[in-house]
Amino acid sequence: MFLAPGASAPARLARFASVVPRARAASAPAPPRPCRARALARPSSLPGGPRGEAMVAARSSASASSAPVAAEGTPRRARVAVVGAGAAGLAAARELLLEGHDVVVFERSRDVGGVWVYDPRIEAGDDFVRRDPNRDRVHSSMYASLRTNLPREVMGYASFPFTRSFGGDARRFCGHREVRAYLDAYCDFHRLRPKIRFGVEVVSAEPLFPLDETSANEKKAASDLSTQKSDLSDLSTPEAIAARGGAWGPRWEVVTKPASDDETAAADRAADAEATTESFDALVVCNGHYSEPRAPSLPGASTWPGAIAHSHDYREPSAYAGKSVVVLGAAASGEDVCRELATVAARVALASRGYAEPEPGEDPGDFPAESYPENVERKPGIVRLIAENSAVEFEDGSVLERVDRVLYATGYHYAFPFLDLGAEDTVDAKSPLRVALGSSDNRVAPLYEHVFPPSLAPSLAFVGLPWKVVPFPQFELQGRFVAKALAGTLARSWTREAWAAEAAGERAEADARGVASRHAHRMGEAQFAYNDRLSAWCGAAPLGAWRAEMYRATGRRKRAEPRTYRDGPDAPWSDEAAREEAREEARSLGFEVMERNA
Ligand SMILES: Cc1cc2nc3c(=O)[nH]c(=O)nc-3n(C[C@H](O)[C@H](O)[C@H](O)COP(=O)(O)OP(=O)(O)OC[C@H]3O[C@@H](n4cnc5c(N)ncnc54)[C@H](O)[C@@H]3O)c2cc1C
Repeated sequence: MFLAPGASAPARLARFASVVPRARAASAPAPPRPCRARALARPSSLPGGPRGEAMVAARSSASASSAPVAAEGTPRRARVAVVGAGAAGLAAARELLLEGHDVVVFERSRDVGGVWVYDPRIEAGDDFVRRDPNRDRVHSSMYASLRTNLPREVMGYASFPFTRSFGGDARRFCGHREVRAYLDAYCDFHRLRPKIRFGVEVVSAEPLFPLDETSANEKKAASDLSTQKSDLSDLSTPEAIAARGGAWGPRWEVVTKPASDDETAAADRAADAEATTESFDALVVCNGHYSEPRAPSLPGASTWPGAIAHSHDYREPSAYAGKSVVVLGAAASGEDVCRELATVAARVALASRGYAEPEPGEDPGDFPAESYPENVERKPGIVRLIAENSAVEFEDGSVLERVDRVLYATGYHYAFPFLDLGAEDTVDAKSPLRVALGSSDNRVAPLYEHVFPPSLAPSLAFVGLPWKVVPFPQFELQGRFVAKALAGTLARSWTREAWAAEAAGERAEADARGVASRHAHRMGEAQFAYNDRLSAWCGAAPLGAWRAEMYRATGRRKRAEPRTYRDGPDAPWSDEAAREEAREEARSLGFEVMERNA
């Protein structure tokens, strides 16, 4: 929900207005911007050919030049650290470069692609509950058989259509290797690889505040970072932080270490591994949020004789052959994994909070019982595990005995181990970052449009927090929003106090609607208006309307044919018109289009 500036600001934010400088007063040197067409250039051997390059460049320049420039003077060029080279970090880097910024992407692994880089290793073995806190960490949560739950056309970035095969898997709903190959090609198409430092982990990032605004430029040049960290004692309110951050927000001291090849837990990493400290004008966080399992603390779990795992550690079903299994959580992963397990397990119960068997004649909800294989039954949430008879008790009082395995498909936590964030709403003046921003119960707040913590805007930004969205094209929009805010070229003027008020107002409104805090970044249908708002902020045309149509049509087909929705006919599909528009858009930009899907 987009609220007018000033709506429902809590009292503590009312004071904001008097102390916050307008972000448009440039305080940093502003070298000329690089040529946009050059930033987009790529070898002619890459997909699309020269025509595609020229047309994408032309489209990008057209949208940028039509944008009213909100800042006075030459656009600012910032030195920006991006954490992560997954789909979000790549998109952010692309947009930052296009806007003329200097970018360093830190990527802990040796590859781009993040969760799409399938890793056969698992963290927790057979026992999620009793796992070792010093275990080896594994980033990806992909299972071997995973196919996308969205058609490739809608998944694709707007600047690089996913209308042909990049890894030899031509299916419309392709496997994870194909998506990884696509992300690799995106990285090369936009010449991002030289900007990425592979095998480097960001271990901490701290804001650096100039002692006063007038000395900001001087401080930026100072090599002694400690001077900028001094005298933070008065930064105990968002208003003070906003005021001290100057026009562009604080700079950032980023500490990195070589990542160990096996992604060993931070605690185990050689304490004396060489740390490098650098300063940046801004920090863009793109570290992903599908790696830190979220799971209930079920009574009885620690003494339960069966095996408990999380879908983060699920790769393939052989360990479940012939077993009695309960899968807890019926969102995308729970649904998919349950159907795969049913091919080998003796029986599978798919449990989800609040599930109730529909009365005769009642709407069966998303997936009617008859859409599941015969050895699958639906159950409400689990209330406890009972050691005797290896039983599982559900919310409706029913009990299943002799259960061999429970699999939590209960989602993930946001985690930013390199940022010193406090709990949301906790006044904790130990660090300015904790005052400005908190994270708890899967809500990162306060954030303007899920991107900027208002008092630190625009120098701290998050790309990729929303879920239940079509992520890749939204990453580009969020990245563009950040890039333009950092350059001072947003199409609308803004103030930190207005963004703070809107973030607070949106939250009050969500609370009033009873939205659980863990759903704060869940979008669904709201993503389309959100994307349009970001496009408007950037002075760019909205994404093609076919995207929303294709997303909705896929949802309808999935509900109607949960087992087969991915394997539609070659043509016509139920979203054939949207598909043709997607292909036409790609062709018009000079990109290749597969004439047939497998
Ligand atoms: C099982 C599963 C299925 C999915 N299916 C689909 C689908 O069908 N379609 C779809 O569009 N989306 C799907 N998604 C969503 C998917 O997460 C997004 O598509 C997207 O890939 C997320 O990208 P990201 O860059 O935000 O995060 P990630 O891909 O997680 O990338 C984050 C990167 O940051 C790096 N990193 C993290 N911390 C640090 C640090 N401290 N220092 C340096 N580097 C760091 C990591 O190594 C990683 O490379 C699925 C997700 C999962 C888990």
